[in-house]
Amino acid sequence: MVRFHPDARFLTDYAAGSLPVSQALCVATHLHYCPGCRLRVGELTELGAELFMQQQPAAAVDGPSFEKLLTRIATRPAMGTPQAGATNDSKVSSLPRTLHKLAGANLEKVKWNKVGSKFRYASLNVGDRARETSLLDIKAGGSVPHHRHQGDEITVLLKGSFSDQEGKYVVGDFIVRTKGETHRPVASQDQDCLCLAALDAPIVMSNWLVRLGLRLLNRQKAA
Ligand SMILES: [Zn+2]
Repeated sequence: MVRFHPDARFLTDYAAGSLPVSQALCVATHLHYCPGCRLRVGELTELGAELFMQQQPAAAVDGPSFEKLLTRIATRPAMGTPQAGATNDSKVSSLPRTLHKLAGANLEKVKWNKVGSKFRYASLNVGDRARETSLLDIKAGGSVPHHRHQGDEITVLLKGSFSDQEGKYVVGDFIVRTKGETHRPVASQDQDCLCLAALDAPIVMSNWLVRLGLRLLNRQKAA
């Protein structure tokens, strides 16, 4: 059962359409799993619409950028087609609809960047240049290298479970880490773990070997 939820600020800004698009994607993904937050967002949206009508009855405004993203996703062709024999685990059909076309039909077709044998990540293009939006895949028993945050990070758990020094997280949990915090998420032993993450600023790997690996990877990409 979902235990970690977006706070009131996230839900209010989401309902008002004023969250940055990558964070809005995280909230929308959490709402897929959480009827309680869905209800609150519904109430906040109604309240906002009422206030808006009272203040600016005739004004026309642009739709929020997240709605534009949803329109863009809806009209974009899927990136890949499911392959015969693909396991259920690699199909995106079990994920929230907002992620289907962003991730493509088959998670194995996503362009993954490997860091070690048990962790890989893939960037998602959501049109938010100020932030990094990614899928994180941690194999059973594996971990994300120990890292420090230079900005805020939101993680929404999509499959499996992981734990860090603060506790254990399950599917649907909305986890916020703020600037300066360090942590080392470890996937449970029995199942692979998949997360959606939105980062305000690049994370800093605490392990020098991982730092070196990432630097080489970035250099290869730039070449
Ligand atoms: Zn919730």
